[in-house]
Amino acid sequence: MKDLLIDRFRSVYGRAPDIIGRAPGRIEVIGNHTDYNGGTVLGAAINHSIYVGLSLREDNCWQFYTNDLSEKIVSGGPEIKKRKGAEEWVNYPLGVLDALIRRGLPLDRGFDFAAVSDLPIGAGLSSSAAMELAAAIGFGKLYGMSFELVELAAIGREAENNFVGVPCGILDQSVSALGKRENLVHIDCKENEVSRIGFFPDVVFWVFNTKKKHALVDSLYSVRHGECQRALAGLQEVYPNVSFLAEGTVEQIDTVASRLSGEEKRRAIHVVTENLRVHEMCRVIAEGDIESAGKLLLASHESSRNFFENTTEELDFLVEQLSVTENVYGARLTGGGFGGAVIAMTNEAFTAGDGKTVTANYKKMFGQDLDVFSVTVGDGVELL
Ligand code: ADP
Ligand code: MG
Repeated sequence: MKDLLIDRFRSVYGRAPDIIGRAPGRIEVIGNHTDYNGGTVLGAAINHSIYVGLSLREDNCWQFYTNDLSEKIVSGGPEIKKRKGAEEWVNYPLGVLDALIRRGLPLDRGFDFAAVSDLPIGAGLSSSAAMELAAAIGFGKLYGMSFELVELAAIGREAENNFVGVPCGILDQSVSALGKRENLVHIDCKENEVSRIGFFPDVVFWVFNTKKKHALVDSLYSVRHGECQRALAGLQEVYPNVSFLAEGTVEQIDTVASRLSGEEKRRAIHVVTENLRVHEMCRVIAEGDIESAGKLLLASHESSRNFFENTTEELDFLVEQLSVTENVYGARLTGGGFGGAVIAMTNEAFTAGDGKTVTANYKKMFGQDLDVFSVTVGDGVELL
């Protein structure tokens, strides 16, 4: 991919880039809707990335190019203005630039920017965070600034929250920043702490992307958000010391059940038990118990299905199929749910052929094709 970037950069701008930044996509390994409830999440950076090339210009113009979406060069500068329509993708690097300028980036000259990617867009692998992180490390270097990894993650999130306008948590950017081969990134959303834990070296994840999202996915997220907030309020009437839903216990939820609606109770059970599963996952990984790790993924999906109710028929079907497929340790939906993708944690013997059986059964059932590909755990953001 690096060669492809240099090649594209040359053909667009007539010279090689001065700087190349790379940042990976990520999978949410376990910890579904725990982030905004003060819980914990485990994610993994993957071996698919966005590569950003940058060079300084003599004037103060900016030029942006990507080989995905559109090959058209987007020009601008020196003022930061939000883009619409076909140029919308530029808001990600522009948002990063905005966040960097607020940190003192001396933008005294213009630049040429080009991106190439082997990370599918909108497949739940967080291409947006990869774009932000690759841009952040690249712009920093180009203008003589360097940042700690957690700061790079914060810059990416700021770009997405404040400039692009997507109210995402810190998961995507933290994993893209701190990911490491043979490691998972552990995020404690209550303490705002990010760390790494060693992971099984030979695990392969397969992504089964349904390419289908519920039409009302955004409003469904906010409905769930509201249900979690009301569940917390109900819990706090009796247990005022509980400050986040993920801190509660199943016993406490049972005690306050009469104060909660059926939905609020189910969401609370999911959040609390999912948070326990993340802790349990850390424990079984430390013990090298891969079978139990797989079972926790299946249990996570069951909880999403029965209690958080953010799965779909398609996702449930895939997890069911995968749970009885050889060489699969476990499977679950990844990301927000209401459509999207399932991940399967497999050993190295799992082949594309095994994947094809699942795909064929899916096609028989739903009449549609899946996107199936394997990913391994890779390294986080870097300069090349
Ligand atoms: P994802 O789950 O992949 O993060 P998002 O909707 O959050 O999905 O972000 C996707 C957006 O990120 C794209 O619509 C585009 O604006 C930007 N993006 C991602 N990859 C690229 C790329 N290779 N080139 C240009 N823009 C990209
Ligand atoms: Mg995104």
